[in-house]
Parts: sequence; structure tokens; C-alpha cells
Amino acid sequence: MDSSKKVTEEEVFESVDFIRAAVAEDTASGRFDGRVQTRFPPEPNGYLHIGHVKAIAIDYGIAKDYNGVFNLRFDDTNPEKEEQEYVDGQIADMQWLGFEPDNIYYASDYFDQLYDWAVELIEQGLAYVDDLSAEEMRAYRGTLTEPGRNSPYRDRPIAENLDLLARMKAGEFPDGAKVLRAKIDMASGNINLRDPAMYRIRHAEHQRAGDKWCIYPMYDWAHGQSDSIEGVTHSLCSLEYEDHRPLYDWFLDRLEIFHPRQIEFARLFMTHTVLSKRVLIRLVNDGIVQGWDDPRMPTVVGMRRRGVPAAAIRDFVDRVGVAKANSTVDIALLDFYIRQELNLTAPRVMGVLEPLKVVITNYPAGQVEWLEAVNNPEDESAGTRQLPFSRELYIDRDDFQEVPHRKFFRLAPGQEVRLRYGYFITCTDVVKDASGEIVELHCTYDPETKGGYAPDGRRVKGTIHWLSAAHALNAEVRMYDRLFAAEDPGSFDDFREALNPNSLTIIPSAKVEPSLAEAGPGTVVQFERKGYFCVDSKDSSPDALVFNQTIGLRDSWAKIQGKK
Ligand code: ATP
Ligand code: MG
Repeated sequence: MDSSKKVTEEEVFESVDFIRAAVAEDTASGRFDGRVQTRFPPEPNGYLHIGHVKAIAIDYGIAKDYNGVFNLRFDDTNPEKEEQEYVDGQIADMQWLGFEPDNIYYASDYFDQLYDWAVELIEQGLAYVDDLSAEEMRAYRGTLTEPGRNSPYRDRPIAENLDLLARMKAGEFPDGAKVLRAKIDMASGNINLRDPAMYRIRHAEHQRAGDKWCIYPMYDWAHGQSDSIEGVTHSLCSLEYEDHRPLYDWFLDRLEIFHPRQIEFARLFMTHTVLSKRVLIRLVNDGIVQGWDDPRMPTVVGMRRRGVPAAAIRDFVDRVGVAKANSTVDIALLDFYIRQELNLTAPRVMGVLEPLKVVITNYPAGQVEWLEAVNNPEDESAGTRQLPFSRELYIDRDDFQEVPHRKFFRLAPGQEVRLRYGYFITCTDVVKDASGEIVELHCTYDPETKGGYAPDGRRVKGTIHWLSAAHALNAEVRMYDRLFAAEDPGSFDDFREALNPNSLTIIPSAKVEPSLAEAGPGTVVQFERKGYFCVDSKDSSPDALVFNQTIGLRDSWAKIQGKK
């Protein structure tokens, strides 16, 4: 290796994504006076999902990389679908993710300015009030292969247009009676330029503007101008806005106002996942999930409630990166980052999902010993804790087989196993009820094996987790699987057919170790050998613990790779 080899400027340039390359080019050339300002512009019509996180990470990351400004702006132009709850929710989501905006703006604060600019376009002969019904307008619009036709109202005199817009604003006309349209080109190959609507009449109260307005700007009329008002230098958005860019350019150029540079990137698509607020809201409204924060949802609130760490989400979107072509990311990649983060951070505890009673017949009744257990083998500073051991224990039912198959090295009649941090035990008796169901095991322990090692050097092939029955706490555990069984739910006409009927299984009476009595809402732990679990932030209380399964220990990645 030639250690003196310098990385050339071109190599640095090539190693950044195409958006950063464009921004670097602009700062170097002094465009926008070297300033970099980005924004994330959501509509407050739902909670944020992981696709939005990708967009936020790009906007936030680029602003930070170039010492720029990153803002949050609500494109709140549609009062019928938007709510204050979503505004507050999206702000909280961004804070939790660690993408704190420098400023929070609202497109609704620009309604007066937008109205004045609409008047200006009318005065230039570039906008008109149309009386066609929505249906007629659709028919006049043409198709991808056929040009549209001019509305009979297209050549209204300027004075009449000004008068009609003022009367629309004053509330003289009912919803849908008229719209203001830009006068561009009904034959354009780009349908967005076929005289798009700028204002529509909606007698609806706005969550911020109150009842001041009964006409509302269309998203496409508000969006580019809002960027311009704020001085956004790089207006980054997903690919579907590429065809809208010529319209945004048209408005900005006719108004002769500050012109941001728009750059499009690929949307995030993920297997087994739907990333569209329109579908997500139906999952909520139809009761298919229990809310936007249902742990099966791909929303930030859902993932958070499931126990997914913000750092894992950030690592995932970082790895997905910035691309110009849409592609679908395997959800197993997100799982990988969740496990990687939780492996480093989650304290290990004992949790028994399907308890089976074990009586250690040669252990003194009434005696309790405290055994030292490691909190996190990946993090020495996490220290140790004391686990109670006594005559009656619980183990997980699937750690016992009455007739063990060949490779089963856990507990079986006559077979010795290690209790994690405890003793070696050997099963001597299997107790069954009248129906033949195993209700209890009798075992003996070897007092010489405390801590898990035999002084005579004999080995056991299996180690299992356990709890002292008298000390264990009851817990409800909610086991989650993919919400959608189908890999590509978007390919179904009815997304309900893509659902996984077994996405939630409730275990009503699991057992967990007593140290969890104090675990606060949202705490994520590893139940040793079982996976990661999170104290539910809504339904759990110290005397009725509820855990959500965050993710299993490893299997799904292996499964996806075909290794299992
Ligand atoms: P949805 O269909 O989920 O409502 P949207 O694009 O209508 O998505 P907005 O609230 O308008 O939702 O989104 C704000 C920003 O987030 C937009 O600029 C959009 O480009 C970006 N965005 C939305 N979904 C994705 C995604 N899946 N991947 C990347 N960016 C996304
Ligand atoms: Mg939208």
C-alpha cells in the first residue's frame, strides 16, 4: 500500500451523492451567495412514516454538512384532511428522531401573499376564473396522448377575473362553483401545465387560519412560492415532483421572485410495507390496527412504541442513501439495524413466555439465594444485578421435550442442563394432569455447580433461562409479525388481501424478572434467548406489565438469506 497516496478532489466529489455534488457545485460557484437552506415540507394529514424519515434525513443532513439552515414547513393547504394533532405529532416525531428543525413555518401563514400574487398573475393575463364543473374540467383536460381543450371561460377579461376572484374570497359562491386557474397551455405534453387550478372554494375552517378563508390554494400553487418566500436554496423532494417542476418554474419566473433549485430523489419503498398516508389512515380508520402508533405500523410513532431506537432508524435511512431511481429496500435491512443497536444498548433480563413450573426437589424449601447476572455482555459499564433463585422455578415450555429429538440439548428426562447464572439441573419426573398435559417437572440440582460450571469438568450441552416462581412478575406480551404477509402489498388491488392475519399474538401470562417492576414506559430489554421487548408506553403499569416484542434475536435475516 502506498500510504502517501492522496485522495484527489475528483474522488471526493465522486464519493458524495448526486444531491451533495450539486449543492457543493452551487456553494463553490457562489450561487445563492454560498448559502444552503433546505426544508422538510409535510402535509399535516397523518403521522410521519419511515419514507418521510428518509426525506428528512436528506434535508437535515445536507443542511448540516454545508453549515446551512434546515426548516420544517407544514404545507397545510387542505383544511379538510389536516389536523392540529398531526402537526403536533410530526413535530414530536422529528424531535425524537433527533432531526430538530431550525425553524417551524406554515404555508398557511403565506395565504395573504399567495392571494396577492394570484391577483398579480390575473393582471398579467396569466390566470382566469373558470366556471366548469370538476367533471367538465376533467373532460377538457385531455389525456396523456391527447391534448386538452380550452375552457369557454379562458378568455374572460382581466377585470372580470379580478372581480370574480374577490367575490370567491368574499364567500359569494358555494364549494366547487368556480376555480382560479393558471393560463398556460392546454396542449402541453405535461398535464401539470394544462391550466392547473390555483384556488378552489372550500367553506371549511382551517386549523391555523380559522374561518378567515373560504378559498384555499392548491398544493402546487402554494409549494414553490412557500419555498421562495423562505429563501430555500435547495428544494429537495421525491421523484414524483419532477413533472411538477416546470409548473413551479413557470410560477416563480412569471412572478419574478427568488427561485430555489429543485432536485428530486427516489422515494423509499420497503418490502412488506405500505408507505402512503392514504392507506395508513385506512388501516387506522377500519380498525385493522389500533392506531397510528400501533407497533406494526411503519410510522415513527408505531416504531417508537414497538421499541425501535431512533438511532437504528437513522442508520437505516443513512445506509439506504440518496438515489435517483426508485427501488425497493428489503425490510430485513431495517431489522438488521434494530438488532445491531439493541444488541449494544438493551439490558439483558429473564423473561419466560410460556411458563412451565420446575420443582428442584433437593433444594431446601423456603431458601432464597441471590445469583449475580451480567446486565449486558456488550457493555461492561452496565454492571450486574442479583437474581433470586429458589426451589420452584419457571422455564419456557419449549425448553423441555419429554422425548427429545436427536439434536435437542435442553431439558429432557435424565438430561442435565445449565440454568443461566445458576446451577446444573437434571429432570427426574414429569407430572401430568388428567388430560395428559405436562404441568410440572421435578428436577434435582448439583450444589457444586453454582455459577454454571462443574468442578469435575463435566459439561452440559444446553443452557436455558429461568425465573424463581415466587419472585417472578406477571406480564402480558404482545408478539408482532409483519403487518403484510405479501412482499409487495402495493401490487394488490385491495391491500387487505395482502395483510398477515397473524400479525399480532397476545401472550396473556408470561413471567418476567422482578427487576422489571421499575422499568419505565418505553424501556427496551432483551429477554435472554427470546428477543427484544419494550415496556408498552400506553397500556403498561407497574402492577400490570405489558411488553411489545420489538424484534426476535436473529432469525428473520437468516431466513431471508435462505440460510435456514
Ligand atoms: P404520502 O403518500 O405518504 O402522504 P406524501 O408525499 O403525500 O406521502 P407529504 O406529507 O407531502 O407526503 O410528504 C412530505 C415530503 O416527504 C415530500 O416532500 C415527499 O417527497 C417526502 N416523502 C413522502 N414519502 C416518501 C417516501 N416514501 N420516500 C421518500 N420521501 C418521501
Ligand atoms: Mg402529499
